[in-house]
Amino acid sequence: MSSDQTAATTPAHPDAPRARGAAEHAVPGEGHAIVLGAGIAGLLATRVLADRFARVTLVERDELTETDGGGPDVRRGVPQARHLHGLLDRGRTAIEQLYPGFTAEMARRGAATAEVLIGTRWYVAGLRVATADTGLTSVLATRPLLEAVLRDRTLALPGVRPLPGTTARGLLGAAHRVRGVLAVTDDETRTLPADLVVDATGRGSRAGEWLTRLGAHAPQEERLEVDLGYSSRFFRCAPGDADGPASIIMSTGANGHGGGAIRVEGDRWHVTLAGMLGDHPPTDPAEFAAFAAGLSGPDIHDIVTGREPLGDPVPHRFRQSVRRRFDRQPIVPRGFLVLGDALCSFNPLYAQGMTVAAQQALALRDCLHVPEHELPQRFYAAAGAAVTAAWQLATSADLAHDGLVARRTLRTRVTNAYVARAQRAAHLDPRVARAFLRVTNLVESPAALLDPRIAGRILLHGNVSPTAPASEPGNH
Ligand SMILES: Cc1cc2nc3c(=O)[nH]c(=O)nc-3n(C[C@H](O)[C@H](O)[C@H](O)COP(=O)(O)OP(=O)(O)OC[C@H]3O[C@@H](n4cnc5c(N)ncnc54)[C@H](O)[C@@H]3O)c2cc1C
Repeated sequence: MSSDQTAATTPAHPDAPRARGAAEHAVPGEGHAIVLGAGIAGLLATRVLADRFARVTLVERDELTETDGGGPDVRRGVPQARHLHGLLDRGRTAIEQLYPGFTAEMARRGAATAEVLIGTRWYVAGLRVATADTGLTSVLATRPLLEAVLRDRTLALPGVRPLPGTTARGLLGAAHRVRGVLAVTDDETRTLPADLVVDATGRGSRAGEWLTRLGAHAPQEERLEVDLGYSSRFFRCAPGDADGPASIIMSTGANGHGGGAIRVEGDRWHVTLAGMLGDHPPTDPAEFAAFAAGLSGPDIHDIVTGREPLGDPVPHRFRQSVRRRFDRQPIVPRGFLVLGDALCSFNPLYAQGMTVAAQQALALRDCLHVPEHELPQRFYAAAGAAVTAAWQLATSADLAHDGLVARRTLRTRVTNAYVARAQRAAHLDPRVARAFLRVTNLVESPAALLDPRIAGRILLHGNVSPTAPASEPGNH
């Protein structure tokens, strides 16, 4: 059983099963932890720390109010929330362990749920993936709703106190031991003492700079330039849309263009178009539709041209994936951890960020019983396993784009040739389609595609012409 297949104790939900590891060894009711950033990673970290510490303070730069009237709004601190956020099944089940009933609550608040390859349509390498029972569930909602559900549950935990409108500016302590946070509000500068500080301030994290100021070292960084652009727009659902697919995802093809449309709360389609390597989708409505017309299948273009638009398209630019190697630091100060996008910010095309943040939260939960001086190394080793798996999948997929300037090892080339074959086989063969989606949902390791029963099918079906017709439900 993997570490994230055990359940956690949630004080606010006494029927949850007891956690292994952290909760058994934890000394609830002692000490003060501070979490910086109330995004997905910060909320999940707070949830885990609330089992171990008497008090957890959640410091957030934004105000945490719902201003939209119809539902949770996009906060200034998370501009990416305007764009499609898919939650991989590995992330969904990890979140379920921390917040039992999460999927049902999302559905109650308007999210669509669907079997990944039955209630949705996937296109890879230009063609539709075969319909198959994958055992995976998609929860289709906007990022603000996902965050609001997690926030409501987290802030209801005993001992958790939000500190909105407060910006962290630095760390207190010395090179070997962090002892708190320096923070500012509109009116004052505050020193907030803590036994543990967790940085979840996202990809713009200043942790390296803050550590340097204490005399410690900033981590090395690995970067991969992808220059990805998004353009997103909402549309009103038409009568009958609820009977069709709940989402349509078109992976980026050879030209680096892709897109997704998901049916979200409020009876809306959330459509995001994507373009790699500087070839970004436009925000002009007519050009937005023209870009959608160039995608692998007609489905997204049909929504863009056949449904009432709600607002204008909005852009987002993501230049680089960034991994900060805290796991390679020879000395890391006690009392300080970094997680979420602050630790590793993935190319969003593969929808991994929230899932890996959830895996990191589970890793943190399972480390909290170790002696304090061992915590950073133990956490970064455990969290690093999840980060490495996702990073390798994402960067390999990026490197399949010929125009991306980076060194490719022989292993990367061979892997990508095999993955291209697996994608072609997934168009025809439901068992390959199932294995492929389970790998991309981080539920199984890529080694699952090498299982002789699957590899044989990949070799058999993987040389079909890319112009073969897309498979239709019921063909297999
Ligand atoms: C365009 C785009 C699309 C994406 N799509 C997906 C997807 O489909 N699926 C998926 O799983 N992931 C996706 N991601 C990634 C996902 O958004 C993140 O991985 C995930 O939300 C975890 O981020 P985080 O909580 O670490 O940081 P964030 O969500 O960025 O949150 C950081 C928080 O810290 C606060 N903050 C920042 N600085 C300070 C400070 N100094 N003091 C106090 N507070 C501070 C911010 O206001 C914010 O609330 C996408 C990312 C982008 C850019």
